[in-house]
Amino acid sequence: TIRSGDRVLLVDKRGKRYLVKVEEREFHTDLGILRLGELIGKPYGSRIESHRGETFVALKPDINDIIAKMRRGPQIVHPKDAGIIIAYAGISPGDTVIEAGAGSGALTIFLANAVGPHGKVISYEVRKDFYEIAKKNIELAGFSERVTLKNKNIYDGIEEESVDHIVLDLPQPENVLPYAVDVLRPGGYFVAYTPCMNQVHRFFQALEEYRGHFMRPRVVEVLVREHEVKRECMRPKTTMLAHTGYITFLRKL
Ligand code: SAM
Repeated sequence: TIRSGDRVLLVDKRGKRYLVKVEEREFHTDLGILRLGELIGKPYGSRIESHRGETFVALKPDINDIIAKMRRGPQIVHPKDAGIIIAYAGISPGDTVIEAGAGSGALTIFLANAVGPHGKVISYEVRKDFYEIAKKNIELAGFSERVTLKNKNIYDGIEEESVDHIVLDLPQPENVLPYAVDVLRPGGYFVAYTPCMNQVHRFFQALEEYRGHFMRPRVVEVLVREHEVKRECMRPKTTMLAHTGYITFLRKL
């Protein structure tokens, strides 16, 4: 049931989406004005009509809706990359994950969703302005209780002990290796997302000193090719997101 203060995703007949907070107030769209208070007490999936008679469906927003609509600071990790990070590292309900940098908080939200209500994500963000953006976005996603955000530089050290995984999206993940070997539990993963090949190369040079602490590393890149499905023609779309980043996985011994 929708309660006052809940966020709902309104979808109009064109598929346009609006993320709104339900309160006794009017919400203006180009298809007319909605009285949001009418949704209070109704189940998700209910329809609401604008003063012009246009219908909107009220859905419960999922994490992708939140990430699509939230304010952005730095470039976010794409869902295709977040998905493989969670799957390959086996990030599970109840896990404790160290993350840096939080940035806009998109990957933080994916990780918080994966660890569930009994898990924990501790995320370091060195920039105060991005820390503030991430904090708001994590609140918007409803994950404040399972996420601890720290306005700190992870290159100075990790304050936590015995964590399940470390997930990094920052320029020099090799700077975190000396701390990772101390705090990562055996069997846990060190994951580094880096946009550039030379970052991967530099990381592997630094890794030589720590190779005895980890199983054989794995580096992947994820390509998702979407398809166009029309009655007369089914084929791959002509454009695609060609590159986001390289993802390096190390498993602690
Ligand atoms: N993964 C994030 C998301 O999905 O929204 C985006 C991360 S953004 C590309 C990289 C972030 O790392 C920036 O916000 C930057 O300020 C932060 N950062 C860079 N070096 C850092 C460090 N040593 N400690 C903590 N944060 C750091």
